[in-house]
Amino acid sequence: MVRRRELAVKSVWDYLQLSEAFQLHGVKLSKVPRVWQYITSCLLDHPERLALLERPCFDGMLDEEFRQLQIPKKAVEILNREFVLSTSLVLEEQRSVSGTQSHKKLLIRMQDGSEVESVLIHMMSHQNPLEDYYTICVSSQVGCRMKCSFCATGMLGLQADLTAGEIAEQIYHAWRAGVQPRNLVFMGMGEPLDNYEQVKGALETICSFAGFKIAPGRISLSTVGVIHRIPQVAVDLPKIRLALSLHAPNQKLREEIIPSAKGDRYLERLMESIDKYIEISGNMVMIEYIVLGGVNDSKAIAEELGRLLDGKQVFVNLIPYNPTVAGERFDFEAPSSESLTSMQNILSQFQDHLGRRLRVTIRKSTVAGRDIDAACGQLALVSKQKNSKEPRSLIDIEDIVQSESVKKSSIPIVRNQRRLSKLLLIHTFAPGCCLLSVC
Ligand code: SF4
Repeated sequence: MVRRRELAVKSVWDYLQLSEAFQLHGVKLSKVPRVWQYITSCLLDHPERLALLERPCFDGMLDEEFRQLQIPKKAVEILNREFVLSTSLVLEEQRSVSGTQSHKKLLIRMQDGSEVESVLIHMMSHQNPLEDYYTICVSSQVGCRMKCSFCATGMLGLQADLTAGEIAEQIYHAWRAGVQPRNLVFMGMGEPLDNYEQVKGALETICSFAGFKIAPGRISLSTVGVIHRIPQVAVDLPKIRLALSLHAPNQKLREEIIPSAKGDRYLERLMESIDKYIEISGNMVMIEYIVLGGVNDSKAIAEELGRLLDGKQVFVNLIPYNPTVAGERFDFEAPSSESLTSMQNILSQFQDHLGRRLRVTIRKSTVAGRDIDAACGQLALVSKQKNSKEPRSLIDIEDIVQSESVKKSSIPIVRNQRRLSKLLLIHTFAPGCCLLSVC
């Protein structure tokens, strides 16, 4: 049962609530990104000014720089009355250092006491080894209703949906922790398509050049398959990347791994929705496949997976299972390196939509952050079990996607034209995609 949330204050980063309040009081919507612009410039260049913006003192914004943005007094009154700079609080910041890489996990408490985690993953560029950047893995819900058998978050069940502001605030906290993420993945706690409207609202702030400045092409939504939402993502958010957590090539096995994936012709309908997504967006879809030793890594299963994906505009990321408390209940084990290589070889014999070999990568990053329980499937773990293995260097696979030619769709990309103009006004678009995942 999802808990009803009592939320007294609103976040200035909540596009849905801020635009509603401005509209209600006759303030133009174009003033929303200007408010963010002022605050993010303070975050970057004048952190000392932030103290002046703590509620109820948005009056602190009335300096010369603020005046140049021509934000009306009425907007400041609304901010003072209803909004705060942050509705959530970082309770704990953990660091995991390996070589030159430094990952962070933030435990964040919401105003009603709900807690989520977001992870900052330090990446080295595949194209330029001297270049590094951060990918932030954000949560969209407290707990998750999907209950994937290997996942620690799934054990909690769904407790609450986060608001758009609470999702966006995770990036605010990253900035305050000294990290301005370049990439973002919705692969923390929760199924983002199960909290779609709030996730979409959060993306307004996250992608805005005035807000958190993350290009849509560097953002990935990962889903286990909320079927009716998938084609809608292509329409509403055509530049955002989609990852499908498949984990099994047939209905029976998939149901065992993802108990929520039940229903008449579920897998068939899921793959149809992926086809539709590709047709509308023209984007490649990443197929994520958690490899569970002895469960879904046999040669026969790899062949079945290859047949399921043959000819599709997809690539596959094999993710070796990370031991979790959740997985221990089923005696799940990490796969052997032989079975991973065998799966990769078998799948590579199939083709993508252009008749090329199906591209298959083996995730090497799942051990990153394991000592702070930030590795794949481990969010929400309270176990402090440590693993002594030295994390390996991370390599982003965005280069793979960047090299793919993206088919332009002839189908209108956003149904609501007004929404499209708004998106185009405040977003910067860039190719590429960070693909690094949990769920
Ligand atoms: S893997 Fe993702 S979708 Fe599955 S239970 Fe965990 S958080 Fe939810």
